[in-house]
Amino acid sequence: MTAKAHLLVVEDEAPIRAGLLDLFVFHGYEVTAAADGLEGLRLASTRRFDLILLDLMLPGMDGFEICDRVREQDPAQPIIMLTARTGDQDIIEGLRLGADDYVSKPFSVTELVLRVQAVLRRSRGVRPQSLRLGDLALDLDGLSGQRGEARMALTRREADLLAYLAGQCARAVSREELLHKVWGYARNAGLETRTVDIHIAKLRRKIEPDPSHPRFLLTVRGAGYRLDLPDDDG
Ligand code: CA
Repeated sequence: MTAKAHLLVVEDEAPIRAGLLDLFVFHGYEVTAAADGLEGLRLASTRRFDLILLDLMLPGMDGFEICDRVREQDPAQPIIMLTARTGDQDIIEGLRLGADDYVSKPFSVTELVLRVQAVLRRSRGVRPQSLRLGDLALDLDGLSGQRGEARMALTRREADLLAYLAGQCARAVSREELLHKVWGYARNAGLETRTVDIHIAKLRRKIEPDPSHPRFLLTVRGAGYRLDLPDDDG
């Protein structure tokens, strides 16, 4: 069973916001709506959404800046920008900031739904929304974990790191690849790979029953890290 994709709609014009909400709920999505930029940014930093539909012209903080801030936290966050502007310069600016697609207002609802589906298909890939590691249940979208009565919080980076490794089917992933795919740095940026080691050590203290003898998040000598997911039939 696939969980419903969860969209965040950031749009200040009430009739358009209500229309988008109805449209995507009708198409089987879970939808959260924000009426201004700051509220949108606040929501985007409390949990991970499968996709953000982001209006460009917003009170408080415009779509470009929100896109920029969201990308700082999560380079892989899918975003579709809704824009009334058609100037080429704006489109170039938006692409620089990394929106995945654009839809110009007034838009055709059919086209918008198709664009959303296309971006979700490209981005969802194999990213899991939850993981089970022994007796630990992790909610990667909700940034939390639970073992028995004990609850824990994950940072967005930790959740992204686990999600990326979980999608690699126990392949060892290099520190450079993790910096590129999870942190969003350009390849060959010559960055300090120790950043990855520090995050892995911190994550092991959260998820491993015995962090000095990891069972799940393993170091592979000369190769990097891999995540071993135990079989479910234990
Ligand atoms: Ca607007």
